Amino acid sequence: MTANPLAPPWLAVPDDANDLPRAVWPSSSARTDSGELTLGGVAASELLAQFGSPLYVVDEADARGRARTVREAFERASTRIGTDVTVYYAGKAFLCAAVAEWMTDEGLSIDVCSAGEFAVALAAGVTPARIGYHGNNKSLAEIDSAVENGVGAIVIDSAIEVERVAATAARHGVVQSVRLRVNSGVHAHTHDFLATAHEDQKFGVTLDDAPTLVASIRSYPSLRFLGLHCHIGSQIFGADGFSESAARLLGVHATLLEGGDIPELNLGGGFGIAYTTADDPTSIDLLADQIADIVAAECARLGIAVPHLAFEPGRLIIGPSGVTLYTVGTIKPVSVGDAVRTYVSVDGGMSDNVRPALYGADYSVRLANRVSAADPALVRVAGKHCESGDIVVHADYLPGDVEPGDLLAVPVTGAYCWSMSSNYNYLGRPPVVAVVDREARLIMRGETVDDLLARDPGVGRQTRKAPLVATH
Ligand SMILES: *Cc1c(COP(=O)(O)O)cnc(C)c1O
Repeated sequence: MTANPLAPPWLAVPDDANDLPRAVWPSSSARTDSGELTLGGVAASELLAQFGSPLYVVDEADARGRARTVREAFERASTRIGTDVTVYYAGKAFLCAAVAEWMTDEGLSIDVCSAGEFAVALAAGVTPARIGYHGNNKSLAEIDSAVENGVGAIVIDSAIEVERVAATAARHGVVQSVRLRVNSGVHAHTHDFLATAHEDQKFGVTLDDAPTLVASIRSYPSLRFLGLHCHIGSQIFGADGFSESAARLLGVHATLLEGGDIPELNLGGGFGIAYTTADDPTSIDLLADQIADIVAAECARLGIAVPHLAFEPGRLIIGPSGVTLYTVGTIKPVSVGDAVRTYVSVDGGMSDNVRPALYGADYSVRLANRVSAADPALVRVAGKHCESGDIVVHADYLPGDVEPGDLLAVPVTGAYCWSMSSNYNYLGRPPVVAVVDREARLIMRGETVDDLLARDPGVGRQTRKAPLVATH
């Protein structure tokens, strides 16, 4: 079959529009003899019958396995250069009590950046000392609660925060460990990185300003300086941006060592994943090795000890473990010149996955309730919101006999989908279920219209108005 001219160049016509490529499907995904998609051994139709549609599904064994693999990759690479490492799971990707538990079970620490995320981690029983607290505008109440609860480290983002955290720690009579977020001037995304003196952005302080701020941190007996922190971007495929940033940070780190001990260096997260089979992220084993090599080489060149390392992956761990299930409502062929694009509309959309609308992100899609030998047709999976940019999958091929009532599955939705979800058009957020060993367990309840009405104090006070126009 020839490609539909409306298809983007990276999208090939699949040999089999029912296959589940390993690169983008969680490890437990399979099809039954009759062709239905199963996740963690549970059939898609059973999941939707029990929990409703749409539904976020997370493959627990896959998420745990990825957490372990990533931690071990960084541990191996760090050991090889004579140091050790802490791997934080970036909670903003997707955090609930179950996920916090999986991550800590698998030996990861947790990063949070708000009172809400911190509360979830604490409620999940995460040891406060294993929590890192980020943000460029933590409120005084957030700082107070973090310090009072014994948070492991606060990442200071500005001069104002040095004073705020110092005063709070002094008031509680504790010494608070802090990192300083610096803006290394390196910004990376997918295949590119840009290195400038510093970036025009809201996070961190410039490398030039770091010495003054670190001196200020060191002047407070209520603060302990752990080291520099940077986070250079997201969905990054190669090691070059990390390497450049690490080298820049270590240069400043070496200078700062003249003023006292610096136990660690935190190089952030941002490790990329495959959203479609066209993506080719570097394996984390290779990335970890390449970053470790640069760190070791720079430390040797500067004549300094290799610090304890820290990393903060989010998407890399939870993204590929998630799949969203939808039900097809309407189907509409749209002619564009001589070609046809089939719009397949589902019962969710930008409220459960805003990434296509926000970033132009690409996803793929498969029929979940059956397989079909029909010729593949180019489809665009649209949501049900009042917004033409409400697209879930810009372009993929589905069997051409896709019809209303079919179930669709969109993989790689574990990160930044539920966590960025909204109630746009008064849709309730879908529930999240974890599947493992043929069982499905609710890990986040969905929202009903009643939940949404319950927040509106105006609801229930009115008596129903008489119609303006007589109806009979
Ligand atoms: C967002 C963020 C992360 C995680 O990014 P991923 O792309 O999910 O790996 C880590 N650290 C900081 C400071 C962040 O802001």
